[in-house]
Amino acid sequence: MAKFAVQFWGVRGSLPSPKTPEMVREHTREVLQSFARSLETSSDQSSATSRIDSFLETLPHWQFGGFGGDTSCVEVDAGESKVIIDAGSGLRRLGEKLMRGPCGLGQGEVHLLFTHFHWDHIIGLPFFAPLFVKGNKIHFYAVQDDLEVCVRQKFKKPFFPVPFEELLSTVEFHKMAPRKKIQLGLLAVTPYQLDHPDPCWGYRVEAETADGLRSYAHCVDSEATRVSPVDLAEDAALYRGADLCFFDAQYTLREFLQHMNWGHSAAPIGLEIALREGVKKIFFAHHDPAASDRKIADAERQTRDFLEAYRAKARQSGRHLPGLEWQFAHDGDRVDLGDLK
Ligand SMILES: [Zn+2]
Ligand SMILES: [Zn+2]
Repeated sequence: MAKFAVQFWGVRGSLPSPKTPEMVREHTREVLQSFARSLETSSDQSSATSRIDSFLETLPHWQFGGFGGDTSCVEVDAGESKVIIDAGSGLRRLGEKLMRGPCGLGQGEVHLLFTHFHWDHIIGLPFFAPLFVKGNKIHFYAVQDDLEVCVRQKFKKPFFPVPFEELLSTVEFHKMAPRKKIQLGLLAVTPYQLDHPDPCWGYRVEAETADGLRSYAHCVDSEATRVSPVDLAEDAALYRGADLCFFDAQYTLREFLQHMNWGHSAAPIGLEIALREGVKKIFFAHHDPAASDRKIADAERQTRDFLEAYRAKARQSGRHLPGLEWQFAHDGDRVDLGDLK
């Protein structure tokens, strides 16, 4: 049975951040040192390969794989219906996957929604292979009036060698109205305003599943300067009761205070909104390009401490807080939101 699911193809913010050779060497050294220590204390007599495998299983995610370096790109999948949110560098790999389906035969139809046009959200566009295949239909959506200008500019010389006019696919532009729902196949999509230096629109995407309506709230990029229900006003509907929320946590709380008006937020702010609005699961993303995997894992620990303290304080004042699943996102994470109806 087809699923309603969300896959993260890029969870890094601002700039793609591949590991340098020096970082890989240092990381490998650390892991091998840990492995050597585990051998000294182990009585395991199985083969070297199986001992390596069982050792790797013991490593935390940040140390074995890390969080990833591609910038914003999310696939919201409902069987035959699918939307992509943002065209960061993660879009290249998603394009490769789509090329193995109808897009590779020139029979594909793609719906791509833009939150805004900062580089990290459009840098993957010229490397999106389905754009270059005759017969494919590519639909671009945004609330901003300058959607078409911004996309065309990306293909202008001397920034890219293939002009927009020479793309072989058929491209259509669609302007969305603020907070007005549109239906794309099985997916209902509504844009809500986020808090960012240039206008930026998050999306709530809903689908009917066998267990009822399920929802995904895309809330990147945002400083989330409006936290209270009064300040959020009609944009609170973006978060309300969402089954999965993707939230901007570029900074730790301390860094957030040092980067006011930079347009990015911190996990504790997302937790506060999520707990109040009844969000079921929240993934923190748009990781700072300068943050190592170890540093992001530290931020994750700080978030755990914050949540424990927050819950303890609520208990003291007699308030009941709902359950909430949360984690820091990794490139490639896929979240299943249920069987489609
Ligand atoms: Zn960004
Ligand atoms: Zn931005």
